[in-house]
Amino acid sequence: MTDSLYWNPLLETLPLEKLKQFQLKKFQRIFTWAYDHSKFHRHLYDDARICPSDIRSLADIRHVPKVEKSMMREIQNKDPFPYGDALCVPLAEVSAFRQTSGTTGQPVYQPDTWQDWEWWSECWSFVLWSQGYRPKDRVFLPFGYNIFVAFWAGHYAAEKLGCEVVPGGVLDTQARILKIQEIKATAMMATPTYILRMAEVAKHKMGIDPSSLSIDKITCAGEPGAGIPATKKRMEEAFGAKVYDHSGATEIGAWSYECSHQPLGMHVNEAMFLVEIEDLETGKIIEEAGKPGKMVITALDRMAQPCVRFDSKDVIQWDKDPCTCGRSFRLIRGGVIGRADDITKVKGVLLSPAAIEEVVRSFDGLGDAYEVVVDRPGDVDRIVLKVELLTGVSRSDIEGKLRDQLRLKTNLGYGIEFFGYGSLPRYKLKAKRFKDLREKSLLHREAGR
Ligand SMILES: [Zn+2]
Repeated sequence: MTDSLYWNPLLETLPLEKLKQFQLKKFQRIFTWAYDHSKFHRHLYDDARICPSDIRSLADIRHVPKVEKSMMREIQNKDPFPYGDALCVPLAEVSAFRQTSGTTGQPVYQPDTWQDWEWWSECWSFVLWSQGYRPKDRVFLPFGYNIFVAFWAGHYAAEKLGCEVVPGGVLDTQARILKIQEIKATAMMATPTYILRMAEVAKHKMGIDPSSLSIDKITCAGEPGAGIPATKKRMEEAFGAKVYDHSGATEIGAWSYECSHQPLGMHVNEAMFLVEIEDLETGKIIEEAGKPGKMVITALDRMAQPCVRFDSKDVIQWDKDPCTCGRSFRLIRGGVIGRADDITKVKGVLLSPAAIEEVVRSFDGLGDAYEVVVDRPGDVDRIVLKVELLTGVSRSDIEGKLRDQLRLKTNLGYGIEFFGYGSLPRYKLKAKRFKDLREKSLLHREAGR
């Protein structure tokens, strides 16, 4: 078993045509389940005059109404408390509570049954196995075990694989680094922001070279960083380890993974999820490669609170080539490229914050921390990038090249502000580096009138 390249050799190499038949069967099953057991879903589908017998092909699925996060927030005021009427099982069968982080509004509660938890860890097993986790690994989890799902299911999956799992919960960053050093952990899972933070603390506060630790692989999630080549390179060089991307979400599950071949993208777990990519402007489903749109996703086996055609707002694109690892699960190129909410127009130009990160992290003389502020002091947008200069690096070495690269990659001119190393905010989980203050400046001006 430990010699196999794949966690599930049958599913991961299923020819695309068979995979599609499998997805259709599973979609019919979960759609029927939601239709029969959730009042919320039944109303939604009755209003759209669609029912399970209408789904005869994958193309029919496009007529099934999407579910938005805001709809899930609204139902939480209904019975049964606290989840509302999308719950498909008796409350007594719910064995786990999690909630979304609430970065885009009031958190959404997520109930799971024990069967759902087993499903979560099965999804994560595909992720970890493909990234080379094996029973001999000692896996350190440096995250706060709490109401957010974060790496909880990664923990269970690592146990399921037979790895030795070390929960580095209520420890500060220095204590975590010391524990990794003491027990010679070989792998860890964290957000890219926190991986870089750990490297910084080890190097500058503790005098420990992170590459001297025994970590040889790192699984990143929660932010796009491991899919941004310059950020991935920073993490890999700091720890002397392979860094792999993964994407999942509380309401969805662990739907994608970068395999050990590091194809500059992630496989969609198409045996457990149905991913559709929708054009941001026309709403049409995109089948061709290289054209970004937002992801509409169905978790094909999640039962307590089903995820059927969920409008995730993650922006992704299909890759034109299959992966060299032999998996038939399709690749999305560059991982999650951004959020439909974050992709915004500045001075009339479409801007993705990930493009700025790629530029900043490609400069060796700049620190990991940076901030982007967009505002509108008069009638024109202004975009300011704040960066940290590393000790011994002069502003004149960087400024001209940075300005050129930013213009080349994003078609915008920036105000650039330089700060001393260590002056910009540090984050423990997900970073908040992009600040769009334009609506505020508008309100401010109107209030002043
Ligand atoms: Zn692969």
